[in-house]
Amino acid sequence: MKIGVLAMQGAFREHQHTLNKLGVEAVKLRRVEELLEVAGVIIPGGESTTIGKLLTDFKLMEPLREKILEGLPVFGTCAGMILLAKEIENSNQPRLGTMDIKVARNAFGRQVDSFEADLEIPEVGQEPVRAVFIRAPYILEVKPNVKVLAKIDDKIVMARQDNMLVSAFHPELTDDLRIHRYFIEKVCKGL
Ligand code: GLN
Repeated sequence: MKIGVLAMQGAFREHQHTLNKLGVEAVKLRRVEELLEVAGVIIPGGESTTIGKLLTDFKLMEPLREKILEGLPVFGTCAGMILLAKEIENSNQPRLGTMDIKVARNAFGRQVDSFEADLEIPEVGQEPVRAVFIRAPYILEVKPNVKVLAKIDDKIVMARQDNMLVSAFHPELTDDLRIHRYFIEKVCKGL
């Protein structure tokens, strides 16, 4: 299986390394032709306004949106989650806008630039997942077709809607492979 990691800006190399550890081939995604060769896509963290602008400049925004709407599995982490959201609080920035969620950017407060937390994610495993948050967003609202996978207090930080998976944190920055494995096995292979 070959997964494309959107390589406009942000933490794409770390995702490639994590996928490789799982024995999955991971290629950088920058051009439309490459989109036709992959069985799934990861949209990494970074700066969502920059990635959104580059998606438009590289003429990838529309083709990627169409593929996702046709069912191409996609995993958006942090900025990637923001780009997949239909609604972004107080922002009209360019986005893919395919998922029925409303997000708030930098929502844990600019003061709390980054932090780590142990998350209970039953879908992913019994042991808690150590999650790294960096200027992270969270999900304010979901439509009923969206399954909430993890929360901190009442803030939603991981969710899934059919072929779309999102996390507010960065699973590529720890040695825990379970989140990527969940994406490959459950979302991409439908096991
Ligand atoms: N704050 C960034 C944004 O709004 C996301 C941060 C991240 O991806 N680590 O795009």
